[in-house]
Amino acid sequence: MPELPEVEVVRRQLEPPLVGRRITDAWAHPSRKFASGVDAVGSEVEALRRRGKYLIAELDCGRDLITHLGMTGRLCFADTPTAARDDLPSPRPADGSAAAVMAPRAVSAADPYVRAWWQLDDDEVLCLHDVRRFGRIAVCDRGDYRDLPTLAAIGPEPLDEGFDAAAFWRASQRSSQRIKTQLLNQRLVAGIGNIYADEALFLACINPSARAISKPRAELLLAALRDVLVASIERGGSTLRDYYSLTGAGDNQKYFVCYGRAGEPCVRCGTELRRRVLDQRSSTWCPACQRR
Ligand SMILES: [Zn+2]
Repeated sequence: MPELPEVEVVRRQLEPPLVGRRITDAWAHPSRKFASGVDAVGSEVEALRRRGKYLIAELDCGRDLITHLGMTGRLCFADTPTAARDDLPSPRPADGSAAAVMAPRAVSAADPYVRAWWQLDDDEVLCLHDVRRFGRIAVCDRGDYRDLPTLAAIGPEPLDEGFDAAAFWRASQRSSQRIKTQLLNQRLVAGIGNIYADEALFLACINPSARAISKPRAELLLAALRDVLVASIERGGSTLRDYYSLTGAGDNQKYFVCYGRAGEPCVRCGTELRRRVLDQRSSTWCPACQRR
């Protein structure tokens, strides 16, 4: 599932071809989750922001076109083998050290998995391709996110310099939930999913079941979150199953030290990593490094 780094990579790639373009036509799947995509017709995109895992295109009519990629959503230009677009910034690391980037499939606006498309005034067609339909589109008045409760209640951006560890720790103390569950609920901090929660808790040596963490541990955890998010953005995000950026796949998944590695030895101490379902979500951790 795309998390903050994957959505940020898409935002950075989509910003140059999208900002300044007017939407001249659109189509959307009639379901409630996608239908309002057509309300953006006639408006020009003035800016492309990200909040957590939401992409927010600010329109010149004073409304926002909001997209959430859900589990399998992907934004791409139609009928264009996007790997060949050399006008888009590459997600590859500058030193070229990573292995080959997979080419994304070309998408046609007639593809049955396209849930919405927007024709731009330069004749490009932006598509939301979403096989499992966990994605979401909404056009709302700027800042009025009543139709998107998770966005309306979303917590601070972890990469904002103004968000400090003391505020993070105080916010974590207001909940009695496990720290892993708090990281996933989007209210303590925005944009974290299972991948970066497991990775950051591992780096900070915090057990995912812990219900209250000390201030020094909160400082370690926020620093670890920032480290894993920034590293992943630099690598083009993590590619698991369906995530692709506009130019291909990121390769951050090759650097996971905890997520998805249950049964393998801990890279720090050699103990076998364990996996367990906590509050309906799978968690992986090292029972020796991440004691309760
Ligand atoms: Zn360990």
